[in-house]
Amino acid sequence: MSETPIVIKDPAFSRDNEVRPFAIEGMDVRGRAVRIGTVVDQILSAHDYPDPVARILGDLLTLTALLGSMMKFDGIVTMQTKSGGPVPMMVADYEMRADGVGRLRGYADIDETKYAAYGKNPSFHGLIGCKSGYLALTIDQGADMERYQGIVDLSGETIAEVARNYFMSSEQTPTEIRLRTDRDAVTGNWRAGGIMVQHLARGEEGKERILDRDTEEQWNRASVLMHSVKEEELLDPQLDLDNLLYRLFNEDGVRVFEAAHLAKGCRCDRARLLAVISQFSDDDVDHMTVDDKISVNCQFCNKTFDFAPEEARGTA
Ligand SMILES: [Zn+2]
Repeated sequence: MSETPIVIKDPAFSRDNEVRPFAIEGMDVRGRAVRIGTVVDQILSAHDYPDPVARILGDLLTLTALLGSMMKFDGIVTMQTKSGGPVPMMVADYEMRADGVGRLRGYADIDETKYAAYGKNPSFHGLIGCKSGYLALTIDQGADMERYQGIVDLSGETIAEVARNYFMSSEQTPTEIRLRTDRDAVTGNWRAGGIMVQHLARGEEGKERILDRDTEEQWNRASVLMHSVKEEELLDPQLDLDNLLYRLFNEDGVRVFEAAHLAKGCRCDRARLLAVISQFSDDDVDHMTVDDKISVNCQFCNKTFDFAPEEARGTA
């Protein structure tokens, strides 16, 4: 390799709430690292989820940010789990708009009765990884683009394992992923982090994957290096993503690319909600009215919108 690897080491370039794409020198491997601070804390703190549920939703949001930031066009990436377990549904979505900022939101549906039956430290499998459960990935890139949907069983003990299975089965792309969500030991605020590497088919995209001895050794090396990341390093506020990548891959050299920035975002909208409740009959409107108002709650951001019954009737 005659080219000198570019390693950005200035921490000023790195901070929370961003996804950093990278490449390892001399390898057919691409990767992405993500660190989420205030954005994941605001999303999870808007609800009163038990910590084990918040951790899984945090991982799902982190995975969604990793995949969403790979979109080449504006659009929405949605990841949704469904199962018959105590957490029947979880949703995370990432919306990319023209300003280049990825907006994240998500929520978890909890069956309180089933949840209460599961002891203090319920496992991933116990909460959402039930036999019939699945994870669906949807990519929506606007009206004139075809919608993509992929589905994988919720087999595995973490969201990262499920995602790994998805890439192997649906996209035949060897992928290694680590995700971590936890409360900061000092502040108690939620933080999340993750890293993924993928084995690229040699040559142009869409060509047959060549797995000869060389590329296999290369891929094994990349996965071993990636898995050497410590759980606490994924979240450490003192260790920015570029330094983390340098720590993991400096022997080979790591090249980093422009980061995608993340923000908390929701698409709930008063006018749209009013349009929905205006479809109801006067009888239904009466039933929905409590204390002379109709309250509608957004599941994602937990914001409540109040409408006067006359507003709902006025347009019907
Ligand atoms: Zn909302």
